[in-house]
Amino acid sequence: MPASEQVDVVVIGAGISGLAAAHWLSRKGIDVRVLEKESEPGGTMKTVREEGYLVELGPNSALETTPLISQLVSETGLQQDFLYANPAGRNRYIVKHGKLHALPLSPLSFLTTPLFSASAKLRLLREPFIERATHEESIAEFVRRRLGEEFLTYAIDPFVAGIYAARPDMLSVRSAFPKLFALEERYGGLLRGMVMGRRERKTRFERSKDRAKTFSFRNGMQSFPKRIADGLGRNVLLSARVTGIRDSGRNEVSEESDGARFLVEYLHADRSAELRARTVILATPARIAASLLKALSSPLARTLESVTYSPVASVFLGYNREDVGHALTGFGFLVPSVEQRRILGCLWSSSLFPGRAPEGRVGMTVFIGGGRQPELAALHNDKLVDLAASELKNIVQIRGKPVYWKCTSWPQAIPQYELGYDEKMQAVTDFEGESPGIFLCSNYRGGISVGDCIMSAAAVAQRAEEYLRRFQDR
Ligand SMILES: Cc1cc2nc3c(=O)[nH]c(=O)nc-3n(C[C@H](O)[C@H](O)[C@H](O)COP(=O)(O)OP(=O)(O)OC[C@H]3O[C@@H](n4cnc5c(N)ncnc54)[C@H](O)[C@@H]3O)c2cc1C
Repeated sequence: MPASEQVDVVVIGAGISGLAAAHWLSRKGIDVRVLEKESEPGGTMKTVREEGYLVELGPNSALETTPLISQLVSETGLQQDFLYANPAGRNRYIVKHGKLHALPLSPLSFLTTPLFSASAKLRLLREPFIERATHEESIAEFVRRRLGEEFLTYAIDPFVAGIYAARPDMLSVRSAFPKLFALEERYGGLLRGMVMGRRERKTRFERSKDRAKTFSFRNGMQSFPKRIADGLGRNVLLSARVTGIRDSGRNEVSEESDGARFLVEYLHADRSAELRARTVILATPARIAASLLKALSSPLARTLESVTYSPVASVFLGYNREDVGHALTGFGFLVPSVEQRRILGCLWSSSLFPGRAPEGRVGMTVFIGGGRQPELAALHNDKLVDLAASELKNIVQIRGKPVYWKCTSWPQAIPQYELGYDEKMQAVTDFEGESPGIFLCSNYRGGISVGDCIMSAAAVAQRAEEYLRRFQDR
């Protein structure tokens, strides 16, 4: 790419957010370039094949919460590789007093489950009559008020650890679980809202996260961003780290100006280069967006810097099948904090999708650290393996030692949607309003799941396209 080449849109970051946005812009005939600092696309979606195992270093799967996912899969020709999880993956377990208990999937199993006491179950009858909150609440406050302490302890606390690697007292219910929060806001209660909300989602062809299907790909999650990047061809530049964005201020459409007001500077193969663009989409973690936008708005940079991320270590362990007493028919298990263990949960990776472990072996992914025990995420690999193996031993009845392992530390794994988060994101929206042509999208905005990132990317692509329309027919 020659220096100072001009394009319509520069997308910074080739994670799923940036690539999905670039894909949709490119399909509209818009000239888009993606700059990615790493040597391969995917960001957090990272897959490795080793010794017959397929190991996910980031997400093991995702939920099909929006039709945009199947649209993207078919537009990139990945349908053949698309896999739904084994139906047994509906079985999810919670550790209680050191033993695994299935999360109830039907009203009858809910009534009989030993996960919750009779009084906790009876307490639910009060839920529809509980008043709305009067101030912004943490997830813990919200659940304690509406559902009671036991639901917080044995359902929501492990669930929040599984999704956000966080503690429920750390996150804002309004920002982290906006749909749950909306049930109270719009319908006055969770039970009432669940019934009414289902009807509304049907009309939007969306699925709630508890009903959406789990999916991955034959060659793992990273094959998705890789295929999107393949489709964009030479318009994705890898090993290209963006170092700065300059705004020449020529934002008015006039005879003299072509509207290419942004100069995006980057390093590629140790050489500086730049691209001139009409639009810039920042699809990087918040702290990177902060450093790149500092020169344009220091208040916004401070807001983005204040977004915290929890650290997570992911430890994949391979065992001989005969050494594992548990049948592993299910998704895996989550651990409530009250159990005082040193892992957040475990996915039974080789039970969910075929081809994740060699014949006669099983593979499991253990998550360690999070907001609960951040210091554990920073342990050395050998310590992580020992810790994960010793925690698994009694829970899934393991007799032997792991025969394969792979550790990945994510010091900044998951953005934390803390109290006051909506105000931070409002500052991002305000900045976009004041700086036409710059857009921000990534998992710190609009949801952390792969599906949420894809929805945010579609919205940003549409706004960028609308912005670019002003330069047409000139
Ligand atoms: C351990 C783990 C498990 C997870 N499990 C699940 C799961 O089961 N299901 C689910 O739905 N989600 C899961 N997630 C969350 C999900 O994977 C992420 O939220 C999502 O992939 C984020 O995508 P993104 O494109 O927004 O950001 P990223 O993937 O972080 O992409 C940002 C990109 O920007 C690039 N970049 C940064 N700085 C620069 C620069 N200066 N110049 C150029 N490029 C730059 C980075 O290299 C990166 O490629 C998990 C996350 C982690 C860490």
